[in-house]
Amino acid sequence: MSSSIKIATLGTPRIGPRRELKTALEAYWAHKIGEKELRETAARLRADNWARQKAAGVTVIPSNDFSFYDQVLDTSVMVGAIPEVYGWKTGGVTLGTYFAMARGAHGEGSAGGAPAQEMTKWFDTNYHYMVPEFTAGQRFTLASLKAVDEYREAQHLGFETRPVLLGPVTFLKLGKSKDPTLDPLTLLDALLPVYLDVLRRFAANGAEWVQIDEPCLVLDLDDATRDALRKTYRRFADALPSLKIMLATYFGTLGDNLDTALSLPVAGLHVDLVRGSGQLDDVLAKAPRGLVLSLGVIDGRNVWRANLAAILDRLEPVVAKRGTDHVQLAPSCSLLHTPVDLELERDLDADVKSWLAFGVQKMGELSTLGRALSEGRASVAPALEAASAALAARRASPKVHDAAVSQRLAAVTPEMALRRSPYPERAALQRRRFGLPLFPTTTIGSFPQTAEVRKARAAHAKGALTDAEYDAFLREETTRTIRWQEEVGLDVLVHGEFERNDMVQYFGEKLSGFAFTKNGWVHSYGSRCVRPPILYGDVSRPEPMTVGWWHYAQSQTDRPMKGMLTGPVTILNWSFVRDDVPRSVACRQIALAIRDEVADLEKAGAPMIQIDEAALREGLPLRRADWKTYLGWAITAFRLASSGVANETQIHTHMCYSEFNDIIDAIAAMDADVISIETSRSKMELLDAFKSFKYPNEIGPGVYDIHSPRVPAVEEMTTLLKLARERLADGQLWVNPDCGLKTRRWEEVRPAIANMVAAARELRERN
Ligand code: GLN
Ligand code: ZN
Repeated sequence: MSSSIKIATLGTPRIGPRRELKTALEAYWAHKIGEKELRETAARLRADNWARQKAAGVTVIPSNDFSFYDQVLDTSVMVGAIPEVYGWKTGGVTLGTYFAMARGAHGEGSAGGAPAQEMTKWFDTNYHYMVPEFTAGQRFTLASLKAVDEYREAQHLGFETRPVLLGPVTFLKLGKSKDPTLDPLTLLDALLPVYLDVLRRFAANGAEWVQIDEPCLVLDLDDATRDALRKTYRRFADALPSLKIMLATYFGTLGDNLDTALSLPVAGLHVDLVRGSGQLDDVLAKAPRGLVLSLGVIDGRNVWRANLAAILDRLEPVVAKRGTDHVQLAPSCSLLHTPVDLELERDLDADVKSWLAFGVQKMGELSTLGRALSEGRASVAPALEAASAALAARRASPKVHDAAVSQRLAAVTPEMALRRSPYPERAALQRRRFGLPLFPTTTIGSFPQTAEVRKARAAHAKGALTDAEYDAFLREETTRTIRWQEEVGLDVLVHGEFERNDMVQYFGEKLSGFAFTKNGWVHSYGSRCVRPPILYGDVSRPEPMTVGWWHYAQSQTDRPMKGMLTGPVTILNWSFVRDDVPRSVACRQIALAIRDEVADLEKAGAPMIQIDEAALREGLPLRRADWKTYLGWAITAFRLASSGVANETQIHTHMCYSEFNDIIDAIAAMDADVISIETSRSKMELLDAFKSFKYPNEIGPGVYDIHSPRVPAVEEMTTLLKLARERLADGQLWVNPDCGLKTRRWEEVRPAIANMVAAARELRERN
């Protein structure tokens, strides 16, 4: 018998099957448990995690994939890249310092008052990391032995693991400096000795392999970065010739970095064969014979059962050629991005459930594949048959395919994505219809989701509040909010979104084709997890989703009430998406469903309809070359959703992250009559893109930073508006906050919005 193929996970969810780490962290932050208890919970979760992998047939088990908050923050701490404000000098880094970097400190303890480090999205996932911060002349020193400690902890429990480190080049590239002239890559020479120290300690403790993640290899890279990679791995190989490095790349294809990756003196290379399914032949053709290839064949970013037979068809020749000991099987990327265990789902539709695989199930799939490749398909015949049967059932299921939806899709014409008249004509008609003052004021949609609102929702979900009682509660909340908006003097009102749990889930629950889990949590950041909807089938809208609420709200006021919808691109980007049709097709289906809702809102009398595309920008592909295709179908989807209305109906849209420099033409192509964006913290500099593009439609640049509890003064907002007026014509400008107000408290919102209205009035009067 040939030796068995090794099965790796690259990393696992660390939050726990029932979010045990979240509970423990939040209890610790609230001073309800101490450090000892927190550390015990963490150790138990790690031990369970190792045992779970072993039981599922994983043979290359990772260590140091655990984190109290974030693996990039852990790396900053490991190498002593701890900004001065956190008060750390030398020696071990306390949890206090660590969490001060993660969450900010309020002038207590050793860290003193300090803001949290900046947080941003991890590649194109919905995970967020803490941005490393460097200074000119940055010094690095080994400040935390966590990586080595966790390797030894596993060893003591009887697990021989492959420890994981974030690679030094990706680490530096993810970092930033307040000094714009500092290129973090120039710090490489200073950084490498610390990594070497850690690697030496792994080796000294008996590690044969280490996994080093360099996901930057799937990005567009310049020569300096490629040089840095060559230098790094040369140094590692020279210093530790017998320590084997599995260099992990994921989230895409290596493309023009393939030669660089294959030239590095490492023992193994992991490639993503899901996102980069086309790269296998190139990798095989070019990989040196002795290189161990870790093949990422199971999707680490999605929830579908794999087509095991098809994967085997591809892998069998590879294994025949390279040998079982030079191939490993793995998910495309760390399992951090999938929910833990499908078996925790008791209420999922049985058919849908039978099509899914979460983390534990994916490990099982890998181990099935491994056995099939080592011992022949017959050795796992029942598992392969079950996989094929599930796939066949899914392909044929009427729950997935709706002929009416495909017919409708086929009948879409280019005209459907066009408003009836160009913007200037619409604007004139809308101006006449609404008669709004200069600098009209509005908000983005949600008002505070107070403890009472959340309590009522929970009570309703449990059956403790009847539908009628819950409805009455929501109406009262809505009416009160409308009265207040009138009193404070807003020009265009919203109903407040009290009936919505989440801007995507609310719509997913009303559209056909979506399923929801009870425990399908995926890590977002820190202790925060999200449960993305699962888009499994053709999307349609059985009945109106928001018309009732809009109608009720408008009946309470004479001022224009915006209809409030989430756009197709955002619904898509924040869901697990089916893999049996292209994303563009799924998006178009959602667009048509939203289009129906827009039509019904208009029919009911809605004069303005806002279609939020908060996640449009974050869906941008990692490689520039792919942007055009994405923006092409994404913008068309928005236009399909929004263009079916009369010229007099005003379409609004809203976006959160508003760095639009590089996609301003696409933003303009959305042709929304009004777009509201997040700009207050950028001092309106984000408007430069709109200015140089001569963006013609109306814009509401946020003047109130809703991420902060601080109430901005009137003067701050007039100053911001002055900056906006330097960039845009007065007639283009709206006045609104950066985003929805659901996370704020009424005590902050009331004075902030009053000041905002005052700022707009001041400008009007001075005009
Ligand atoms: N209308 C939504 C709200 O106000 C928009 C939220 C968002 O852009 N993230 O909450
Ligand atoms: Zn927003």
